[in-house]
Amino acid sequence: MAANKLFTKVRTDGRIGEPKVCVKCGKMFTYLGFGHFYCPVCKERDAEDFAKVRDYIYENGVASALEVSEATGVSLKVIEQYLREGRLEIPESSPIFIKCEKCSIDIRSGRLCPECATSLSNAMRIEMNFDNEQIGAVPKKLEGKMRYLTKK
Ligand SMILES: [Zn+2]
Ligand SMILES: [Zn+2]
Repeated sequence: MAANKLFTKVRTDGRIGEPKVCVKCGKMFTYLGFGHFYCPVCKERDAEDFAKVRDYIYENGVASALEVSEATGVSLKVIEQYLREGRLEIPESSPIFIKCEKCSIDIRSGRLCPECATSLSNAMRIEMNFDNEQIGAVPKKLEGKMRYLTKK
């Protein structure tokens, strides 16, 4: 999906001093290392936004993405991006998770479940701009919690 491109974090093919297109605003800038392909303006905004989200969770404990978004003013899209980048993680107790991009199993952060990640060849990793921080833990099924099971 084209929209997912926005969430990718590239570390492998960025050479310092190379002109790059910012993944957020689309402007050209000179790459100076440090992971994400954000231009200096977006990078600064991103650092501020991430600090707001991190501080909110630190002070208030576990919160849903919607609560965090409403309290911090950081958009849900940006919060999902942090999840996909492996910078935030959904707690085990959450009723909602994000999906593995390959097999659609629930994961707590990142883009792929550990099983799909190990099945990727190096060429596929490069093509998908995938790195190990984007491997998400699969939530454990909570014992003793009632779940609705569909009858076969
Ligand atoms: Zn930018
Ligand atoms: Zn998977």
